[in-house]
Amino acid sequence: MRHIAIIGSGPAGYYTAEAAQKQWGDDVQVDVFDKLPVPYGLIRTGVAPDHQSIKSVARRYEKTALTDNVRFVGNVAIGIDLSIAELQELYDAVVMATGAPNDRQLGLDGEGLGNVFGSADFVGWYNGHPEFAQLSPDLSGKNAVVIGMGNVALDVARILAKTEAEFAGSDIVAHALDALKNSGLAKITILGRRGPHQIMMTPKELGELGNLERASPRVDRNDLPEEADDAILEPGIRKSVAHLRSFAAIPEDMHAEKAVEVEFDFFANPTAIVGDGKVASVTVEETQIENGKAVGTGTTYSIPADVVVACIGYRTSPIPGIPFDERAGRFANDAGRILTGLYCVGWARRGPSGTIGTNRPDGYALVEKIAEDIESGALGRVGKAGREGFDALAKERDLDIVTFQDWKKIEEAEAAAARDGSPREKFVDIEAMIKAGH
Ligand SMILES: Cc1cc2nc3c(=O)[nH]c(=O)nc-3n(C[C@H](O)[C@H](O)[C@H](O)COP(=O)(O)OP(=O)(O)OC[C@H]3O[C@@H](n4cnc5c(N)ncnc54)[C@H](O)[C@@H]3O)c2cc1C
Repeated sequence: MRHIAIIGSGPAGYYTAEAAQKQWGDDVQVDVFDKLPVPYGLIRTGVAPDHQSIKSVARRYEKTALTDNVRFVGNVAIGIDLSIAELQELYDAVVMATGAPNDRQLGLDGEGLGNVFGSADFVGWYNGHPEFAQLSPDLSGKNAVVIGMGNVALDVARILAKTEAEFAGSDIVAHALDALKNSGLAKITILGRRGPHQIMMTPKELGELGNLERASPRVDRNDLPEEADDAILEPGIRKSVAHLRSFAAIPEDMHAEKAVEVEFDFFANPTAIVGDGKVASVTVEETQIENGKAVGTGTTYSIPADVVVACIGYRTSPIPGIPFDERAGRFANDAGRILTGLYCVGWARRGPSGTIGTNRPDGYALVEKIAEDIESGALGRVGKAGREGFDALAKERDLDIVTFQDWKKIEEAEAAAARDGSPREKFVDIEAMIKAGH
C-alpha cells in the first residue's frame, strides 16, 4: 500500500488525488488535508459568487472524495497542527497543494492606509473566507480604484458595480450583500500599467461588464491601437480587445443613463496611495510601452479614491522546513519535486496562473513523477504507517478533525439557510462550521 498526504483540498489537491487513484487503484490511500473545515479551496473562496456554473466543478472533486481510498481531513493546518517532518515520517509521499493565498504587495507609500486592500482579503470577504469575514470595507464613498488588468480585477469591479437584484442566484455572503447594496460608489477605475493589447482578461468575463444593470464601461478610444494591429493578438485576447472597442463606442448619452461608471485607465502606473489615516487618492504616472514594458513618462496625475483594491497577483505561504523561491513566491521545485518524498502541485508549484482546468494536467503529471520515484527506489521502501499513524497522532494531540461526512452536514446546513434563489448561505466562522459538521 502506498500512503500519500495531499495538503490542500483545492483543484490541484483533488486532481492529484484523482490521478493517484487512477494510477494505483486500491493500492493507494490518500489523505487530503485542509486547514479549513470545508473543502475546495478557491472554488469556494476565490471564484466569484455570481459565477455558480464554474463552482459546479466541485461535483467532480466530490466523486473522488467519496471513494474509499481518499479521505478529507479538514481543520488541520500543516505547519501548525503538524509539521512537514512529522507528515513525512507517516506518508510515503507528501504533496503541497496549498495554493498561493497571500497578496503580492504593491510596494507603494500609503499601501497601509485604511480602506486599501489586496484582492485575497477583499475577495475572501465577499466570498465568506473565515480569515477575512471581518474586513468591513467602507463602501460609502463615491470612488473605487481597482489596480490590475486580469480577471481578478474584473471580478472585483463587477462585484462592486452590481445591484442587489444582479446577485440573485449567487452565493455572495450576507454581510457583503448588505454592504454592497448600501454602497455609494459612482465610479470604479480599473488601473493598468500597460495598454489594451497587454490585458490578461478573458473575453467572457470582460463582455459581462457591458451587460450590467446600473454600470457602464468606459474606454478612451485614444488608448486603443489601430484596429488592424489586433491581428497579431492571440485569438482570446483579440476577442477581449474587441469588447474594449465596443465599450469605447458607447455614446455619452448611454453612459449618462447609468449610475455607475467603470472606467479603464490604461498606461497608468500607480506610484503612491495618498490619504490621512484612510485613502483619499491614488497618484499615477502615465506610461508608454517600450519593448512590451511600461516605462514612466514623468507626467503624473491624481485619481480620487475612497477604496482601493490591488489585484496584482499572489504568493504561496512559506512553511518551515520547505525550501522557498522568494523571487517567484512559491515553493522551490523541479517540475513538482521539492525534496525526496516532498512534492508540490497547482499554484503552490507554478504560481498563480492558469484556469481551474490547468491544475488537472498538473496533478496527473505529478503523480507520474511520484510513480517514477517509487519505481526507481528513490523513496526507499514504501508502506509507511499512513492514515493509521496519523489517526494515532491526531488522537494524542486532540485534533478536532472535520471529515467529508461532516462537510456534507455543513453543506446541508448552508443550503437550508440560503436566501431565496441562492444555493447556500455560507458559514463565515470556523467554530460555526465545526459545530454544524459535528
Ligand atoms: C479571485 C479568484 C477568482 C478566480 N476565478 C476563476 C474562474 O472564474 N475560473 C477559473 O478557471 N479559475 C479561477 N481562478 C483560479 C483558480 O481558483 C485556481 O487555478 C485554483 O484554485 C488553484 O488551485 P490550488 O489547488 O493550487 O489552490 P487553492 O484553490 O488555493 O487551494 C489551496 C488549499 O490549500 C489549503 N491550505 C493552504 N495552506 C494550508 C496548510 N498550511 N495546511 C492545510 N491546508 C492548507 C487552503 O485552505 C486551500 O483550501 C480564480 C482565482 C482567484 C484568486
